[in-house]
This record gives sequence, structure tokens and C-alpha cells, in this order.
Amino acid sequence: MKIGNTLEDYVRSREPETRSGVLLERSAKRLRIPAHELHEIVKPFSVHIQRLPVPILGRVVNIMSGIVLHNRARGPYKGGIRMAPDVDLWETTELARLMTLKTALSGVELGGGKSGISVDFRALHAQMRKDTRFNGGYREFERIAKADIMAEFTAHFGWLFAQHVYIPAPDMGCGGNEMVQIYNVTRDPASVTGKPDGIEGWLPGRKEATGYGVFYAMLKHMTQQDRAPGDCTAALQGFGNVGSHTAEFLHHEGVRIVAVTDVSGGAYAPDGIDIPALVAHVQDKGHIKGFRKKTLTNEELFRLPCDYLVPAACGHVIHGKNAGTVGAKVIVEAANMPVTFDGMKVLESRGIDLIPDIYANAGGVIVSDVEYRQALGGAKFTREMALAHIREGFDAMYESMRPLVKRGRTMTEASLDVALRRVHQTMKLRSLI
Ligand code: NAD
Repeated sequence: MKIGNTLEDYVRSREPETRSGVLLERSAKRLRIPAHELHEIVKPFSVHIQRLPVPILGRVVNIMSGIVLHNRARGPYKGGIRMAPDVDLWETTELARLMTLKTALSGVELGGGKSGISVDFRALHAQMRKDTRFNGGYREFERIAKADIMAEFTAHFGWLFAQHVYIPAPDMGCGGNEMVQIYNVTRDPASVTGKPDGIEGWLPGRKEATGYGVFYAMLKHMTQQDRAPGDCTAALQGFGNVGSHTAEFLHHEGVRIVAVTDVSGGAYAPDGIDIPALVAHVQDKGHIKGFRKKTLTNEELFRLPCDYLVPAACGHVIHGKNAGTVGAKVIVEAANMPVTFDGMKVLESRGIDLIPDIYANAGGVIVSDVEYRQALGGAKFTREMALAHIREGFDAMYESMRPLVKRGRTMTEASLDVALRRVHQTMKLRSLI
């Protein structure tokens, strides 16, 4: 069978120039961190690449996977597992680096790591239907294949989770079910976060935490701009874990959501989308397509005039070529790195505010920290306590950035300066640089 990736597909020889690399260099100059020390902060501590020979429906499919353990100066390596067709090791590396910065900015005692599993379920489904007697639908196939892949992934990397070296959580393409599979192997509630309701050590409020944080960051921005939620409009890309919960909280607060897209298509309603109805549709069908007659593409979504554009899907979607036509006044990075470095420059020149990823989407890791410590013997939180903890976390992050923003830094620069200074100080204290 031809499905799967070769090592060459997965690993490029040198890390390409990345947004975080460029921005960290500038931040290090501002903080007077020497280049050789920055180098040790930018590079990961270790990288594990693993080919997974996965038996799916009686066939062995080889899947490339990797775990990047970026930095554990401030606590155990922490970061989600991403399963997507375009995963490669350098992307996983940059996402792990963002986790190091995000945990530092949010003040939790965790480090940064990330897992990437490169798999194209649609292509695999089409191939399996051709090569085997399987004639089930896509959703059924994805469920079976995902479980088989996670079983193999956990068999290889379970020791990292069980020893709390690296504590995984959900990211794109992964959710509570996959975290349960890890728990079933380790039998240790502290070995994984993002466990669904009812699993030993689960945290009420965890599944909506990232979306709640995005929403709260937006609310703080509105307050700062003296705008009432009811007077604001928003458009979202992505309606998975992060996008759907962000939309639900915004809708509940009275923000008019005029458009939402996902990988299947989009829904557009200038008078506001009925978000609970969209949630029900996506739960039933698995995607947005078919929800409304009025549709729009992802590129149309980016051009739509609105107050807030919330990319909550994949990275690099707003770049040098399309940033000039972005119709929103503010971009909220619910996804990791949805705006490229070139895109940022264009947005800045147009006076469009950017609420950066390591701040905007930190709600998940803020309560993952609680979930981890609760499993180690801490007190059980209620949902209200978890959401209050997120608000406190955001207030603290905001206060740490405020003096820098007052001195003229963008929010992106301020967030990186705070995070980099903290990581640098701890690495110095621990004689790691
Ligand atoms: P998810 O898999 O639950 O949902 C992803 C959504 O994006 C789906 O609606 C999918 O249809 C859509 N999508 C995928 N490819 C697309 C494309 N090419 N065009 C348009 N839409 C597309 O993922 P998630 O957990 O919601 O994560 C979304 C983003 O948020 C990712 O960048 C992730 O790294 C980031 N993030 C997630 C968490 C978390 O707690 N899950 C925490 C921090 C950051």
C-alpha cells in the first residue's frame, strides 16, 4: 500500500525561517539576551520521531509521528497532540516552542512540548474503500482509524506520559476520546489532560476552556475600547473545539456572529448566525456544509467587514498576500500562528490590532495545569472555579503586558517579551544556559 509518509516527507533538513524565530530574535535584542543564549531557548531539548505501523481494518498503514520536547525549565513538557495531513516535524517544533512561551506568559509551572501525527484520513478512507471490503462512511472510518493510530502512538510513547516527562492534551484532530485511550494505558489521571467528563481526574470546564479564554480576551479588548458586546460583530474560521466554544460564549454575551467557516464550507448571515442551531447541525453532520443556503469561502470570510476576525483552525492562513484585504478591525489568534510574519507587517501598517496566540488561546493550558495538579492530589475544582481561574489568569497576563504596551510595544511584542524573560531567567537560575 502506498499510504503513509516517508521520513523525507516528514523531516526537512533545516528549520525554515519561522515567525516565532524572527520575533524571538527581536525580543531578545530588546531584553539584551545574548544570541548564544537565545539559541538554546529557541531550540528543542529533544525530538522523538516514530514510524507507527498501524493495523487498520486488517492492513498495516505506516504513519509518521513525532514528539518535540522543547523546554522543561519551568515544569514538565506540556502540549497537545495534533493529527492532520500537513503535520511536519518543524511545524511541531514551532508549536512546541509556542507552548514554552504560552506556559511562561500564563505563569503556570509547565514547560513546552507538542506531538504531531501526519495522517490524511480522507485519502486513507478513499484508499481503504478501494483496497478492502470496507464500505462504511467517512466518519465511521475516521473513528476506527484514529483509535488504531492512538493505540500505536501510546504503545510507543506511553513511558513519556506515565513518568510525567511530557503531559499531552488535545489539539487539532484530537479530543477527549484520544485522551481516554492514553489514560486507559497509563491508568494515571496526571499523565494526560483534557480528559472528558467522568474520567478519573477530569476537570469540569476543561473542554470549553480554550474557547472561554478566547472569548474573555475579546471581552477585555471590548472593555478597553469602550465597546459593548451587543454592538460588536465577529467572524470565525474553524468550528471545532476552540471555534465552537468561542462562538457559543460570544453569542451568549450578545456579539453578532456574521459568518463561520470550517474545512467543508461556511455559513453567512449578516443579521447574526443562530449559534446553538449551528452547534446542533455540526454535532449531527460533522461539518458546517448544508447549514444555510447563504455560504461563503474562507477567503471571503477574511475579507468580510466586521469588528473581530477569529481564525480558530490552522496556521498561516493570513499572510502577506491576503492581509491587505482583511476586512476586520481586530484579529484574535485563537489558532496557533494563523498570521504569518509577513501578514503581521501588513496588518500593522493598516492599523489592524492583533491579539496574539500565546495570550488569546492560553485558557486551555491555564486549566490543564489545574487538571494536572488536581490529579496529583490537589482540591477538585467546579466549572465555575475553573472559569474564574481562567479569568484571573487572563487578568494577570494582561497586567504583565500592560506596562510594555503603554511604552509602545504591540501586544505580540509585549507577550513575547514577558514570556522570553521568564524562560531566560529560569534557565539561568537552573544553570541550563
Ligand atoms: P479541532 O480539530 O477541534 O477543529 C478544527 C476546526 O478547523 C474544524 O472545524 C475544521 O473543520 C477546521 N479546519 C481545519 N482545516 C481547515 C481549513 N483548511 N480551512 C478552514 N477550516 C479548517 O481543533 P481545535 O482543537 O479547535 O484547534 C483549533 C486551533 O486552536 C489549532 O490551531 C490549535 O492548535 C489551537 N489550539 C487549540 C487548543 C485546544 O485546547 N484544543 C488550545 C490552544 C490552541
